[in-house]
Amino acid sequence: MIKTVAQGALALVFIALLIAALWRAPINGWGSVAFLASMLAINVIRAPFQKANQANVITGKTQVTKEGILLALVAIGGYLPIVHLATGWLSFANYSVPFWVPILGAVTLVPTLYLFWRSHKDLGRNWSVTTEIREEHVLVTNGVYKSVRHPMYTAIWLLFLMQPLLVHNWIAGLSGPIAFGIMYVIRVPYEEAMMREQFGKAYEDYCARSGRLVPKLL
Ligand code: SAH
Repeated sequence: MIKTVAQGALALVFIALLIAALWRAPINGWGSVAFLASMLAINVIRAPFQKANQANVITGKTQVTKEGILLALVAIGGYLPIVHLATGWLSFANYSVPFWVPILGAVTLVPTLYLFWRSHKDLGRNWSVTTEIREEHVLVTNGVYKSVRHPMYTAIWLLFLMQPLLVHNWIAGLSGPIAFGIMYVIRVPYEEAMMREQFGKAYEDYCARSGRLVPKLL
């Protein structure tokens, strides 16, 4: 009950900030609209998978405290720009860019959001926000997981790297890529260790033939 009320309140704050940020788009530049659309899109893409996976029975979690801190850091890094775009409170750290920079950012978002959706679709019930193993967990090595082990992180990296191209502010533009960079470096080793422990040789073989963020060249 308390969780539902808190989630509802957060969703309302999110929508209010989105509206305020859209209102200020002429000041923030139209790249900010593409950024806001991508934030909305990632929430819309994730929602049905998150709902379906609530029924999962979790059999193993790893690094719970560390994970909580890292996820909070990434949430701050990702949502800080919306607060800035809605209020202008970090305007003292704004920078300007050539006209083609937000175009490049917005165009890159399209295949990136597709990859974000595809990786959720291919992982299906095996996907989770935190690093965990569920009952009947299956090692997925098909679809976008065929030659890349972390395609979802590839998509999230690209999303965050587009942030400074669309939000022209040294703090709000860089908060996302820095926060995710920290999370990526710390999380991937223990996520892979958990998968290795769960799937043994099958995961070793999968590692040998796949790359982390992009396919192996040879
Ligand atoms: N690192 C992956 C998945 C992120 S979601 C990516 O970037 O695409 C994190 C969860 O996905 C982890 O809890 C793990 O249990 C699960 N997971 C990661 N890779 C998987 C795989 N190949 N098959 C099944 N589950 C996987």
